[in-house]
Amino acid sequence: MENFSCLYCNSSFQELLPFGFDFPVLQKNKVIGAGYRLCVCSGCYSTDRERLLLLYLTEKSSEIFSTQNKIKLLHVAPEKNLSFVLSSQSNIEYIAGDKFPSLYNHYSHLEKCITLDITSLAYQDNIFDVIICNHVLEHIHDDITAMSELHRILKPGGWAILQVPISLVLEETYEDFSITSPEEREKAFGQRDHVRIYSKDYLQRLESVGFRVSTHNPMKEKWTSNLSKYGINLLEDVILGKK
Ligand SMILES: [Zn+2]
Repeated sequence: MENFSCLYCNSSFQELLPFGFDFPVLQKNKVIGAGYRLCVCSGCYSTDRERLLLLYLTEKSSEIFSTQNKIKLLHVAPEKNLSFVLSSQSNIEYIAGDKFPSLYNHYSHLEKCITLDITSLAYQDNIFDVIICNHVLEHIHDDITAMSELHRILKPGGWAILQVPISLVLEETYEDFSITSPEEREKAFGQRDHVRIYSKDYLQRLESVGFRVSTHNPMKEKWTSNLSKYGINLLEDVILGKK
């Protein structure tokens, strides 16, 4: 890798810090977006997947930063650095939420992080322009209900970024709700609080609740030159659901 250059804090480093878990099931199924790797910026602690989203937004969807556009945006399980960028934009009405909002309250820009159950959202239909839900659905038992709720609160024409760890080796999504202990889940799904490993049929699950789904790969779409310097996983697609 050439010298890493951070999209969030502009630091440059030779090396990134380690992140993720080293369970055999993740390697066996070549799960993209999970597993042990060197991907954390030692300046701001952003991860590869947090940087992927900012690169996507700046290179492929920069209209959300235009002061002309009033955007109502819901950020589920808000990553610290991305939430700082989004909440700082004067044109974005920014709402952050999580099942456990106290995890975020020590960040001043996330003091208002609200309690959110994405399987039962206390919002009217059709009110958000954009939703960002990055690596959340793999934690949720009733993911179809959560997808349906996210779709419901989006405006027609709105869109959501819906990242999950995904295996392109598995024929279909692997889930087994009889596996409940953290230790068993680590073995089966690669993380103690994951309830499945998604496969390609993840996209069909999103379509089943009404999303029009597209995937966007930084390398295939040549988002920008020198992609390798941003320390992102070039195999990870941005998964977009439009309403
Ligand atoms: Zn950084």
